[in-house]
Amino acid sequence: MICGLKKEECPVSFNNFVQGNDESFMIVNLDTVYDRFKLWMRELPMIEPFYAMKTNSDEAILRVLATLGAGFDCASKEEIDTIIGMGVSAERIIYANPCKSSSFIVHAESRGVNLMTFDSVEELEKIAALHKCPELILRYAVSDPTANNPMSGKFGADPVQEAPVLLQFAADMGLNVVGVSFHVGSGCNDPTAYFVALQHARNLFDIGHQLGHKMEIVDVGGGFPGGKLFASFEKVPTITWVAGETMWDDNEAVNNIVDMLQIAAVVRSAIRELFPAPGVRFIAEPGRFFAARSCALVANVIARKTVLASSGGAPSTRMHYYINDGVYGSFNLVLFHEKYPFGRPLFDKEGEQYNSTIWGGTCDSRDKLETNQMMRKLDVGEWLIYEEMGAYTTVASTTFNGFPRPVKVHVISERVW
Ligand code: PLP
Repeated sequence: MICGLKKEECPVSFNNFVQGNDESFMIVNLDTVYDRFKLWMRELPMIEPFYAMKTNSDEAILRVLATLGAGFDCASKEEIDTIIGMGVSAERIIYANPCKSSSFIVHAESRGVNLMTFDSVEELEKIAALHKCPELILRYAVSDPTANNPMSGKFGADPVQEAPVLLQFAADMGLNVVGVSFHVGSGCNDPTAYFVALQHARNLFDIGHQLGHKMEIVDVGGGFPGGKLFASFEKVPTITWVAGETMWDDNEAVNNIVDMLQIAAVVRSAIRELFPAPGVRFIAEPGRFFAARSCALVANVIARKTVLASSGGAPSTRMHYYINDGVYGSFNLVLFHEKYPFGRPLFDKEGEQYNSTIWGGTCDSRDKLETNQMMRKLDVGEWLIYEEMGAYTTVASTTFNGFPRPVKVHVISERVW
C-alpha cells in the first residue's frame, strides 16, 4: 500500500517514475480527502466543516473540498483570495484569525467576507472601525494540554472572566456577536476537552442572548486528529468508502493516541445534552483531519555512511543515511517536537537489520529525522517513504541550503473521480 492505494490501483508506476530521477516527491492521494469528507459527514453531520487552509493549501485538495461543499477557514488576505479565486462564495469563509492586520480586514470586507473571530477589546475596536457589517465570533480559550500543539496561550479570551466582558463591550458598541468559537489544540488527545469547551459555549450563548446578541453559531474549531483510525473504526464494517484507512500496520508509529471517532462521539453527546433546541448552527475548522493522510513523502537516500559505534561494549556497525528533504523542508514539525517521522524503504527486500539514523540533506546538524530505527541496509539512490505527511508539512517548509520542495504527484481513483 502506498498512500492508501493498493499497488494495482496506482496510476503511477514507481519504477518508471523514479528511474534516473533522485528528486524527492510527495504523492497526494485525493481519495483520502474525499473519504475523510464522507467520514466527517457520517460522524458529525450536524457540523459544517470549514477546512483550515493553513494545513495544506494544495490546489487539488482545496478543489476537492470545495466541490464537496466544504467551507474554508482563512487566516490571511492571500488565503481569502485563493479560495474565492476557486469560485467559493464569501459566505463559505470564516476569517478565523483573532488578531488580523488592518489592511486584511479592509480586504475581507471588499471581498464580502463578514464572518470573523475576535478575542479582545482592541480587535473589536479595529473591526468596528474598518468593516461595515462584520458577523462576529467570540473566540475563547480552552485547552487540551496533551494536544500536539496547544493553542490557548496565544489565542482566546478566558471563557469565565473575559468573554462575558467582551460580549458586554460589543453590545455597548452596537456590534452584533453571532456566535462563539474555540480550538482545543491541534492534534487533540483528550476528547473531553470538547465537552468542557461546549459547556462554556452554552454559558456564553446564554449570556450573549441576555445582552441582546443574536447568538446562532457554535464553532468547535479544529483539533480532530488526522492519523489512522483505531480499533473503534474496525467495529464499523459497513462503510466501503474508507478502504484507504486500512493501509496502516498496527505496529507503525502514530502521533496521536485518540482518533476522530472518539472525539465525534463526545461532541455528539455534548451537543445533544447542551444544545437540545434546534436553531443553532454548528461549524468546525478541521485541518489535519482532512489533510494528514493525503500525502506521502518519498525521499531519496543521497548518501550513506557506515560507522562503528561503541558505547562501552563491543563496537557495533550503525548506518547513517542522508536524504533530500529534512527539518527545513517537509519535516519542519520535527523542530517543534510535534512529529516523529517513521520512514520505511519504498521497496521491501530481505536484508540484515541495522541501527539506522536518518539525517536531512542540509549542512545543519539539527537536521535529523530519526534515530535508532532498525532497518535493512539501504543503498545510495534507494527511496524512503513517509506516510501521513499532508498536514503542516510543505506549507511551512523552506528551501534552506538550496534544497527544493518535493515535486507533487497527484493521484485519484476512478471511484472518486
Ligand atoms: N482553526 C484555527 C484558528 C487554527 O489556528 C488551526 C490550526 O492552527 C486550525 C483551525 C486547524 O487545526 P487542526 O489542524 O488541529 O484541525
